Amino acid sequence: MDRIDSKLLAGLGLMSVISLSQINAETMLKIISSLSLLQFIVLRLRGSVLIDWARFDGWKKSLPFYIINCPQHGYQLSYPHGYHDILLCPRCVESNVN
Ligand SMILES: [Zn+2]
Repeated sequence: MDRIDSKLLAGLGLMSVISLSQINAETMLKIISSLSLLQFIVLRLRGSVLIDWARFDGWKKSLPFYIINCPQHGYQLSYPHGYHDILLCPRCVESNVN
């Protein structure tokens, strides 16, 4: 499957973004529009699709980043959380914390 080079994520400034909930709609649109047709189909069918592997400062390893389709917040960027590798919507997580 085609994968977006991690330079794209870096170019969008995501590598320095600690909280994924800060990604604005314009940036999400850029990411969505860079998907291949196959990725877009997978996103529509499954509700999530792998876009890239990325590693933030302080992380021991790279993690897979997915676009998910949150019923409440629309398309969001997420990576697996916890023991069960659940993909959580960062905006839902943020609103639960606050
Ligand atoms: Zn959400």
